[in-house]
Amino acid sequence: MTKHFHNFIDNQWVEGVRTFDNRNPADNSVIGQVHEAGREQVNAAVNAARAALNGPWGMMTIAQRTALLHKVADGIEQRAEEFVAAEVADTGKPHSLASHLDIPRGAANFKVFADLIRNVPTESFTMDTPDGGKAVNYAVRNPRGVIGVICPWNLPLLLMTWKVGPALACGNTVVVKPSEETPATATLLGEVMRDAGVPAGVYNVVHGFGEHSAGAFLTEHKDVDGITFTGETGTGEAIMQAASKGVRPVSLELGGKNAGVIFADADLDKAVAGIARAVFENSGQVCLGTERVYVQRPLFDAFVAALKVRAEAIKVGPPNEPGVTMGPLVSVGHRQKVLSYYQQAARDGASVVTGGGIPNMPAELAEGAWVQPTIWTGLSEDSAVVREEIFGPCCHIAPFDDEEEVVRLVNDTPYGLAASVWTSNLQVAHRMGAALDVGICWINSWFLRDLRTAFGGAKQSGIGREGGVHSLEFYTELRNVCIRL
Ligand code: NAD
Repeated sequence: MTKHFHNFIDNQWVEGVRTFDNRNPADNSVIGQVHEAGREQVNAAVNAARAALNGPWGMMTIAQRTALLHKVADGIEQRAEEFVAAEVADTGKPHSLASHLDIPRGAANFKVFADLIRNVPTESFTMDTPDGGKAVNYAVRNPRGVIGVICPWNLPLLLMTWKVGPALACGNTVVVKPSEETPATATLLGEVMRDAGVPAGVYNVVHGFGEHSAGAFLTEHKDVDGITFTGETGTGEAIMQAASKGVRPVSLELGGKNAGVIFADADLDKAVAGIARAVFENSGQVCLGTERVYVQRPLFDAFVAALKVRAEAIKVGPPNEPGVTMGPLVSVGHRQKVLSYYQQAARDGASVVTGGGIPNMPAELAEGAWVQPTIWTGLSEDSAVVREEIFGPCCHIAPFDDEEEVVRLVNDTPYGLAASVWTSNLQVAHRMGAALDVGICWINSWFLRDLRTAFGGAKQSGIGREGGVHSLEFYTELRNVCIRL
């Protein structure tokens, strides 16, 4: 029987204006049919979200609301295997990765923000008035309203709940537009929300594409009070433009071209292990992943040789095969983009340290979106391969001589999302933390995330910060009440 991914509007499953295929990238087989929302369905979702805001959800106490969010997290955990299976089928990522990262973090995002919102203070100032009296000011935080949530495909549930968790904890309602590549877990979450007792209209899902489809209909919708988006920088520009009508705020988590920096005094084994994760995890489809590696010259040859060994030890294969550490890319279409950079590297005269093409896969997987883990050296800094985000399991490694030079190289990009620096010199570590123009600078680590800390990108990697109390900036509106005493 064909599987259907319906829109979830006002706690009901709703058909779309047409359907499109959802494919499994491991073999390009059709998983099911996705119901694309037209304007009518998007309007219905926004109306449901508004009604819930003005109705049962808006009336709830913080204690009631956060208790429900804990139930949602419990619901994800109870159905974890279903969520893992759905994420694995949509993305092709290894079962071990989805079960250790995507789904547990998806549940944690509800708990963390539910707990946070119970403990957030607001400010108060007492002032002297010109006539010798006093006035007291205090701040009140209100939900922003109906939030449009537009999501990418690389960590579907994790990145979606990273927004929906704080949005709901702050008392907003949401309309989510998952990526057309990965509709499954957002749809499944609708069931969990309903079963947990979250009122109708609080969490809505509309499926479809960006331009001329559900994404644009949602971001253009005048009754959406704010838009939070994770995806490519170019899409972020289009969304900002849509949001300018009606002067609606945006929170944008965008692309990157992140650098890894290895100083000669670094622990080589740890640096290689860390950079190997940063380059190849999730087939390189992590916004925070490393695609440019700079190694101080005395360590360069040893580092390149050791990373090559790591890359060649990666077991590429289907998600449920034991020992597999890398799956396919998310789609055959995305593979074309990644392979175009593999070809560009060859044209630009790169030395291919390893990979550079398509792996030999068994016949039943031959139609899947497979690529080889790839390392290059020898490209100039102005090659598109070194400047543009590829979003695949690949990196270019270049040598550097001193700190000043590497700071200049790392910062010479329109992006500014993340960096990963490896050194045993504490002074160098602190100086790099201050000098690199990024939203997150890891020292001797990568992807370590304390959810209370600020997350976001500098330059063209984003606008705004989410995480911990920083999420309140976007998901609430602060009002000052001034009382003359
Ligand atoms: P994308 O920009 O192609 O699509 C993201 C979402 O936007 C999808 O749901 C898509 O349908 C929708 N969309 C596209 N055009 C739209 C439009 N005109 N109006 C409204 N919605 C529109 O990104 P992607 O390919 O899904 O994801 C990969 C990108 O996401 C990479 O650039 C990566 O760096 C970035 N990313 C950033 C972060 C971060 O935190 N900074 C995290 C993950 C991914």
